[in-house]
Amino acid sequence: MRDALCATARALHTARLCVGTSGNVSVRTARGFLVTPTGVPYPALEPADLVELNLEGAVLDGVRLPSSEWRLHAALYRARADAQAIVHTHSRSATALACARRGIPAFHYLVARAGGADIRCAAYATYGTPELAAHAVAALADRRACLLANHGMVALGRDLDTAFALAEEVEELAAQYLASLAAGPPVLLDDEEMARAGAKLAAYGQPRSLR
Ligand SMILES: [Zn+2]
Repeated sequence: MRDALCATARALHTARLCVGTSGNVSVRTARGFLVTPTGVPYPALEPADLVELNLEGAVLDGVRLPSSEWRLHAALYRARADAQAIVHTHSRSATALACARRGIPAFHYLVARAGGADIRCAAYATYGTPELAAHAVAALADRRACLLANHGMVALGRDLDTAFALAEEVEELAAQYLASLAAGPPVLLDDEEMARAGAKLAAYGQPRSLR
């Protein structure tokens, strides 16, 4: 599990979803969750650098300080039984939209991949706070991804690969939406069409790249 978490962290760096020491990744364990430490660039990350916390935030195992966003991860694991892994990034396009405090509407059918007709932008709160965690839990109602105002984005998954793939997809959708705005206001799909697309995507399953 530690090796898989390090591999996901390195993949986030390679895909430029996480640059420098921004962003963090976690995976649920029997006792709580395993999360990346604060301040260690992902290319240099070792399995022993990871920190295991319980869902209240007590350190169970690890010598480093956990990610400054550990409260966000803990709150999401408490609120969402379906979340087995969480990816948080400051990726460029998602963050650009989040700084305008705009979510991603139904401009493309693949928005349904995040669980509904839009991807919301959570209200602003200072990084690392319980308030930010609560805003993210609210914005993620019936969704698997959201933006965080003036900050970045969060994606949940049934495992590390699906959380990574959704984060990558949300970043791409954010870039496409920004480009689409430049071409003029996009024509949005209605709720019925988004529900149809969501059902087809669920039947199709996850993209091949996740297997
Ligand atoms: Zn952050």
